Amino acid sequence: MKVPWSSVVGALLIAGSGAALAGQPEPSRGPIAGFTAATSARQRALEERLAALLDPASTARHFRILTEAPHPSGSERNRELAEYVRAQFAAYGLEDVAIRRYDVLLPLPRKVEVSMVEPEARAFALKEDGYPEDKHSYAADVGPTYIAMSASGDVTADVIYAHSGNPEDYDWLEAQGIDPRGKIAIVRYSMPYSYRGFKAWEAQRRGVAALIIYSDPMDDGYRRGDVFPRGPWGPESHIQRGAITYDFIVPGDPLTPGWASVEGAKRIAESEARSVPRIPAVPMSWRDARPILESLGGPMAPPSWHGALPITYHVGPGPARLHVEIDMDGGTRPIWVVEGRIRGSEAPEEMVILGNHRDAWVYGAVDPSSGTASLLETARVLGELARSGSRPRRSIVLVNWDAEEWHLTGSTEWGEQFATELGKGAVAYLNVDSSTGGPDLEVSAVASLNPTILEVAGDVVDPNSRRSILEAWRNRKASSDAEGGGSGSLVDNDLGSGSDYTVFLNFLGVPVVDLTFDGPYGVYHSRYDDRYWMEHFGDPGCRYMTAMVEVWGRMGLRLANADVHAYDFRQYATTVRGFLDALGEVPGAAKELDVAAAATAIAAWQVEAETLQREIDRALTSEKALTANSLSALNNALLRVEREFLVADGIPDRPWFKHFLYAPRFTYAAMSLPGVREAAESGNWEEARRQLEVLTERLRAVTETTRRAASLVPGP
Ligand SMILES: [Zn+2]
Repeated sequence: MKVPWSSVVGALLIAGSGAALAGQPEPSRGPIAGFTAATSARQRALEERLAALLDPASTARHFRILTEAPHPSGSERNRELAEYVRAQFAAYGLEDVAIRRYDVLLPLPRKVEVSMVEPEARAFALKEDGYPEDKHSYAADVGPTYIAMSASGDVTADVIYAHSGNPEDYDWLEAQGIDPRGKIAIVRYSMPYSYRGFKAWEAQRRGVAALIIYSDPMDDGYRRGDVFPRGPWGPESHIQRGAITYDFIVPGDPLTPGWASVEGAKRIAESEARSVPRIPAVPMSWRDARPILESLGGPMAPPSWHGALPITYHVGPGPARLHVEIDMDGGTRPIWVVEGRIRGSEAPEEMVILGNHRDAWVYGAVDPSSGTASLLETARVLGELARSGSRPRRSIVLVNWDAEEWHLTGSTEWGEQFATELGKGAVAYLNVDSSTGGPDLEVSAVASLNPTILEVAGDVVDPNSRRSILEAWRNRKASSDAEGGGSGSLVDNDLGSGSDYTVFLNFLGVPVVDLTFDGPYGVYHSRYDDRYWMEHFGDPGCRYMTAMVEVWGRMGLRLANADVHAYDFRQYATTVRGFLDALGEVPGAAKELDVAAAATAIAAWQVEAETLQREIDRALTSEKALTANSLSALNNALLRVEREFLVADGIPDRPWFKHFLYAPRFTYAAMSLPGVREAAESGNWEEARRQLEVLTERLRAVTETTRRAASLVPGP
């Protein structure tokens, strides 16, 4: 789903471990991380050939086909596009091209109706307007707008306005004597961003009978700037679709939690599925929401709850009374994941995986077709290089996911199906969901990959400024610092959820990178996220989509060709130390938790990481010839390090989330050291101490594996 970055930043600052910003180095102009001087030169020459092959016109051809018609998961068009992607992969010379089918819970709406009963009878359109200058805004019937995984229901009740639908919002209402139970709650899509599934979760927990989520112009409409089709922000009738699956508990098909939805797989009953919401929910434009909000009595809403509508916001309950009727068909449907690879010449079982999802809410120009266009252009140039004899040492696997918008479904099922192979051989997963909604590169990643990311960002030219995209980022940061808004580093090491990297990081312990070019974008998950929007505002000429191909391709080739895996565990240890320090923010933690053993374990890891890096640097700069053979034991050990952060039973109450450094909050915001932190935040100190012990034990295992890796560096 890839939430708009501009709105995530606030959430991260609030969630703020704030730890990740320390000490990322300048990229060097010397050898590439993980390469010798000689192999660096070869690699740079290879990447220059990649850059020369890039063709925005080719990216644009794919983009036009992908955005010609709506292609949500489960639709015939999305199936056709799976075939299209497969055909392109094959034509570009990828190997082992295949479509994987999974049968997953994907209910479609039979009926979605909202009408006002009091103070006056009126039906709501729940539709988006067409504009004559943009044929895609009116040409196709895109069906009813709905929230994926809404429960069915038929509710008539008084309305309350619950701001963003966060716990503190309901607390405030309850303090005013307003009982949310049995009411229809109307809430805003919010700033800072919070996953709509969290709003549903909280509403369900509070006994709300039905939930309406609307787009206030304060957040993504006229208050931000010109609206579509004049500008990039959301017009009066735009509706943000999306899913509310509780995939912060377990992602993927809700009926096969933890295993793949392949033919013959065991399936649990929907009533048993923990990730299935039990509350009816509907998305709304502000044009439909306004008369509801205008008809609310009761106390005036607190000032911070006021949006940008020219009304006085009240909270109710009533006198506005609505009838909400939703009928979902409960269906299980096939989804289609397309894969292909360039087999590695020396270590084909080791894989660098590049993935993007294909399913869109409507046309999905930004989300995700810009990414799919980038994926196809990446396939073309990598295929071309392989055909001309430049095959990578390790395999590069390209995957095009389906039903990401529902439950991160395709990637999760695929990761669960191939867990053994991926556990053994996955070097890194590089995710691109929306490749382009503007010119600003945003990167999230595990800290061990920071140096490679910065090196690549320093080598790719920014289409607007003609400087490197790293410099473009620095200039942008300098101006936001001047406004007091800047922070940190190009690479954000706080990873939450909300896109297809989740299974790789949290279930498989594979290092991940998430890449996007962002900008002003107010039409997320509406039908106006279409070609017209992209050609006028987001990326006219597909230049940034093509720049993403260069970032993605160079990064993929570096990781696939490195003599020694370029994981920097020194930075990782520093980052984890920051995570540990951030625990101190939790009220009571300083008194209740003794973090000395964990801190000692991190310090020991840091020492081993320094030794390892010195040994690797020595080996890479020595005159002695290094061979794949002499390095294979070392590379194997290096691969194991991230896996050591996995705990078989997962974090408490969320066994699917196995990584001990990261899990998403229910809002999708990042949470570091989730086992410890969650227990501490709920004041369960006994559990927090137990989790701290598990963490310390994992850190010792990581340290041991790092030490073993250092001992495997070929001697002088
Ligand atoms: Zn997406």
